Amino acid sequence: MIKSEPRERSTRQRRAIRNVFETADRPLAPDEVLAAVQRSGAGGSLATVYRSIRAFIDEGYLTSVELPGTGAFYEIAGKTHHHHFSCLKCRRVYELEGCLPSETLRLPRGFRAVAHDLTVFGTCASCR
Ligand SMILES: [Zn+2]
Ligand SMILES: [Zn+2]
Repeated sequence: MIKSEPRERSTRQRRAIRNVFETADRPLAPDEVLAAVQRSGAGGSLATVYRSIRAFIDEGYLTSVELPGTGAFYEIAGKTHHHHFSCLKCRRVYELEGCLPSETLRLPRGFRAVAHDLTVFGTCASCR
């Protein structure tokens, strides 16, 4: 019986994980990544998914998405400014286009904003 080399196996898994992120078009939780990787037949465990995600973050390929009240999500790094939609039912996170016009929020006199953070919560189309 020919044993596949651990290095070779992890390369295949990492390629599969990269592919999952390229096709997802939205931030993914580690268990979603694992499910997609297993569907593709590459196998793996949650531990190997976490290890790959950490390596991808070190390489600058992935970044973590911090959202209030959810676990960890990850997306491809270096995207233009965008916000997220968090589905309260299926717990999936989606990427939103556009931004709030700055005049919607009024800053007190003398204040100057340099960044903002916005998450929209609700139910997604498949959960309606
Ligand atoms: Zn949903
Ligand atoms: Zn914005």
